[in-house]
Amino acid sequence: MDSRWTYLDYNATTPVKPAVAARVAEVLAAGGNPSSVHRFGRLARMAVDRARDQVAELAGADPEQVVFTSGATEANTLALRSLAKRAVADGRACGGARILISAIEHDSVVGAAWAVDVPVEEIPVTAAGTLDLKALKIALGAGGKAVVALMLANNETGVLQPVTEAAALVHTAGGWLHCDAVQAPGRVAIDFDTLGADTLALSSHKLGGPQGAGAVVARSVALLSPMQVGGGQERGLRAGTENVAGLAGFGAAADAAADDLSKENEIKALRDDLEDRIKMIAPAVQVLGDRVARLSNTTCFALAGLEAETQVIALDLAGVAVSAGAACSSGKVGASRVLRAMGAAEDIARSAIRVSLGWGSSAADIDRFCAAWSALIARRAMREGNGTFRIAAGQ
Ligand code: PMP
Repeated sequence: MDSRWTYLDYNATTPVKPAVAARVAEVLAAGGNPSSVHRFGRLARMAVDRARDQVAELAGADPEQVVFTSGATEANTLALRSLAKRAVADGRACGGARILISAIEHDSVVGAAWAVDVPVEEIPVTAAGTLDLKALKIALGAGGKAVVALMLANNETGVLQPVTEAAALVHTAGGWLHCDAVQAPGRVAIDFDTLGADTLALSSHKLGGPQGAGAVVARSVALLSPMQVGGGQERGLRAGTENVAGLAGFGAAADAAADDLSKENEIKALRDDLEDRIKMIAPAVQVLGDRVARLSNTTCFALAGLEAETQVIALDLAGVAVSAGAACSSGKVGASRVLRAMGAAEDIARSAIRVSLGWGSSAADIDRFCAAWSALIARRAMREGNGTFRIAAGQ
């Protein structure tokens, strides 16, 4: 990343770590197709196997449980489609199949769920931003075979979800739970067994690896059915020549994620300092999701009437990169679906921006963000002739 900029959008994509870039370059230079029998093929196969070990270690799983994909969108789709297929088969005799998704899932989960020919229901979240477990229990009680999708940490607010509790309820009801754990690595420890999910989705570029690599971790790969067939790669679960260099980078990033975890307190201190300062700049600011456990690197906040898009553009002009809500579909800035699900008023859901920190963040980045945000608020207050605002913003 260009060091003249302040990059505070780690939840959208995390800058590639130098050690990861070096590993990608090394594997690219070595070449080889993992399916080839000769030396080059064997070296490429070793690179993929090593990455599988590293990703398994990150997730607290066995290497045999890891199936590589092109990213988390594909991982979410592969897992949900596979589990839905089983639910349809098993549900024939007992009330049919359903997909239950939390109201704050990422678009890739929402899209995958609705693309399957099975009824979909949304399970609400509380005003604090966590899944309403009572509502889940009631929905599960309606019978049939359910596939439930619940993310580990929300990408907009950072709020951690009760995955272990939900998985226990789902399993008691005879269903399956898929967990989109994309935002968790390097930020909270993940242990696949403790989580209790049947399948888990991971994405390399959210933890300092290259884009275009991800994985499904499955309790048993027998749960999965392939979406693309042909060459038989990934034990027949995902045909196509592996993205060897990308996966090697993913593995290296998974290894390095332990480092990030050890620096969690430093990141949290920076995030908390930012929140303290924005509250001084504009006392009316609302931080969303701060009443419950959340990722230490994320803050999502809104000042009613100060549209997210205006802020993101003004901050960009000042050399500071943040995002408005979910940044996945480029240019899309509307009211946040996640914040609406938490019961936020429309003008809050339209005004929320997300600042997310990571391994390269420093106190200077926080200073620069605060200076730019404060200047933007001062300009706006001046335009609106709001003296009180101006004094507050001048602090
Ligand atoms: N799930 C979540 C929670 C995400 O934040 C993202 C990325 N924005 C994805 C899934 C999609 O991941 P990928 O970019 O690897 O397809």
